[in-house]
Amino acid sequence: MGNALLQLCYLIGSITFIMGLKMLSHPDTARKGNLVAAAGMIISIFGTIFLFRSENAEHLHNYVWIFAALAIGTVVGTMAAKKVQMTAMPEMVSLFNGMGGACAMLISIVEYRRVMDIVAATPSYVPETGKMIVVVLGMLIGTVSFAGSMIAWGKLNGRIKDRTIPGGQMINFVIFAGLIILVAIVVGGFFPAMPALFYGILTLAALYGVLFVMPIGGADMPVVISLLNSFTGVAAAFGGFLYNNPVMLTGGILVGSAGTILTILMCKAMNRSLKNVLIGSFGGAKAVAGGAAKEQGNYKEISVSDSATLMAYAQKVIIIPGYGLAVAQAQHVCHELEKVLEEKGVEVMYGIHPVAGRMPGHMNVLLAEADVPYEKLLEMEDANEQMGTTNVVLILGANDVVNPAAKEDPSSPIYGMPILEVEKAEHVIVNKRSMKPGYAGIENELFFRPKTSMLFGDAKKALQSLVTELKSID
Ligand code: NDP
Repeated sequence: MGNALLQLCYLIGSITFIMGLKMLSHPDTARKGNLVAAAGMIISIFGTIFLFRSENAEHLHNYVWIFAALAIGTVVGTMAAKKVQMTAMPEMVSLFNGMGGACAMLISIVEYRRVMDIVAATPSYVPETGKMIVVVLGMLIGTVSFAGSMIAWGKLNGRIKDRTIPGGQMINFVIFAGLIILVAIVVGGFFPAMPALFYGILTLAALYGVLFVMPIGGADMPVVISLLNSFTGVAAAFGGFLYNNPVMLTGGILVGSAGTILTILMCKAMNRSLKNVLIGSFGGAKAVAGGAAKEQGNYKEISVSDSATLMAYAQKVIIIPGYGLAVAQAQHVCHELEKVLEEKGVEVMYGIHPVAGRMPGHMNVLLAEADVPYEKLLEMEDANEQMGTTNVVLILGANDVVNPAAKEDPSSPIYGMPILEVEKAEHVIVNKRSMKPGYAGIENELFFRPKTSMLFGDAKKALQSLVTELKSID
């Protein structure tokens, strides 16, 4: 009876994960989707705590440890989620992703120790190869994901700089080869009772996670973030295999496949192959070095009132949001600007670049928070089709995603990345605080082009002034 109930909990958990994921695909249902999946997770966790029975009918008994950990995790998670600034969301997502990897790693360590205890007690015992594969690969992938996510977290909050290590590719290759050999030895049962080999894999995997993310920089970070996400999912799925736990398996597979699809989409968005991203260290240290050198000429400034007049008499305006809009927390006033323009009969849309901001879907989440209708968000290809018939493009804190070097300069580290082709429009107004480069660390020639005018200032303040000015125009 208990087991049937437990399986029912797992079934409910698995269904809610799938439903939640589906609901996350639209801003209107995303919040509810998150709650639905969380409810399924709670049912699965409490089902396991109270209904699980081991092969010899033992139930869990260390409730103090379990509930203490649950309480600490709940308090820390709730506080972190409540306190986090919208701009720090990408870092938090990376950190949480790393925690998932760390959990998979710890599960494998515990299980390996259990196997070792049996080997110590019964020297003739030979661990099952299948089980060892799951334990070792779960630990390996979880550790790479944990270490890599910690580096990604440091990079996103600016604490860690992109660094190309001399001979890095060779070192990574040697580590990778070492990992394959060690995994084959441990899984093959050649030296089953030699924990040093197992912990050797753990150390090399951590080193590999650090070294493979370290040089990847600039515009390639979105690909790495989604790849690490898929690693965590796969590692969790190994845990599901290990414990024959369907809900863990479903969750792991969903995260793993969603992460893999996102990695493919991000590669497509950057027009890069995964191999190229992992080997090329695109937009990293190289980009920063190349950034400052070029002499670009003069740029034109525009006042708030001239910008407002241009937009008030336009037929169509496309707004391009970027990371700076999130920094300024200007999404609400941006929506207000859109409404004021529409009251004046101007058609307003948003052009969304897939890697704008600092996490996949960042701009969609930001604008959804301000209740911008989803239909107004154009994907890059659709926005580019509209550019030719657009009077004014208003760029709000975006930089790399509109940099023409990606199309025109083969020596640029972002060459080949599709961009929002804003120069097809009649006028381009760029709002940012200075002439500083964006995340990829390279200058943007767009700012010096004849069609472009710079509207300097913090995005929120600039937008507030624009709204006031527009309201005063009849
Ligand atoms: P960028 O990082 O290229 O540029 C953002 C610009 O915003 C800066 O040039 C900055 O200029 C400006 N800015 C900052 N604060 C403000 C403010 N308060 N008001 C107005 N402007 C401000 O952003 P994009 O969105 O164009 O491109 C995203 C970049 O991040 C790409 O290179 C992408 O690859 C990378 N990335 C994306 C991830 C993702 O998953 N989406 C993950 C990791 C990296 P100034 O300082 O002069 O104001």
